[in-house]
Amino acid sequence: MVLPDLSDPFYFLMAALVVFAVVIGRYFLIAGLFHLVFYIWFPKKWMKRKISQRDYKPGQFRKEAGWSTLTALIFAFSGACMLLLWQKGFTKIYLDIHQYPLWWLPVSLAIALLIHETYYYWLHRWMHHPGIYRIVHKVHHDSSITSPWTAFSFHPIEGFFQAIFLPALLLVLPMHIYVILAQLTIMTFSSVINHLDIEVYPKGFHRNIIGRWFIGATHHSLHHKQFRYNYGLYFTFWDKWKQTESPLYNKLFEEKTGENPPKTYPE
Ligand SMILES: [Zn+2]
Ligand SMILES: [Zn+2]
Repeated sequence: MVLPDLSDPFYFLMAALVVFAVVIGRYFLIAGLFHLVFYIWFPKKWMKRKISQRDYKPGQFRKEAGWSTLTALIFAFSGACMLLLWQKGFTKIYLDIHQYPLWWLPVSLAIALLIHETYYYWLHRWMHHPGIYRIVHKVHHDSSITSPWTAFSFHPIEGFFQAIFLPALLLVLPMHIYVILAQLTIMTFSSVINHLDIEVYPKGFHRNIIGRWFIGATHHSLHHKQFRYNYGLYFTFWDKWKQTESPLYNKLFEEKTGENPPKTYPE
């Protein structure tokens, strides 16, 4: 496939529009699907795992979808910049799967996720400094009870910080195009799962050797309520290391998965 020269503003704009359609389509598809499955089609099955008991504020989903659309515009611009950089030969994106050994495919994905985690954890802590918080991060926390629609509900400045990560990484880290798509897919699913406000992981997951390293709805819901804990994105290791994991996490996870039902539950 031959792409037109993206340094031409018209084609650059066209590329940004295509990326926008993909990003916003992906958001509505995945957030919509989770909303339907967990809240509309099978609420009985999932409501016992619902983390917050209060109702959503009127108009919350519409607001979240509005901010997420703005975020998608920013992601589209950064995606078009990434395509332009790639076309001009500045990125390490590769299309021939054999350009690097095959083991590099999963390894590059793991490295990208770990660097993304580190970047986000510290960015997130910085965004919680009072002066910064009010301008940059409050929009995201307006959703005190999160929903699948909260996944990309960010102030444009926060959206910008999130959008520059991948293009910057691709200037230095060789990644196959399919691995990049996998990373973007993981990012979307993880954000929707973490904001679902329904715990989807199995009983005991928070303690098992793999599960203890993953963030889920219980973990991130506590961030939206307590502010000073659980800053991570995909993984819990920075929170564990820097002792910013909520002391309520294990108990709440056990309550929601029925392992340790609270006393107030009807017998
Ligand atoms: Zn936060
Ligand atoms: Zn959040």
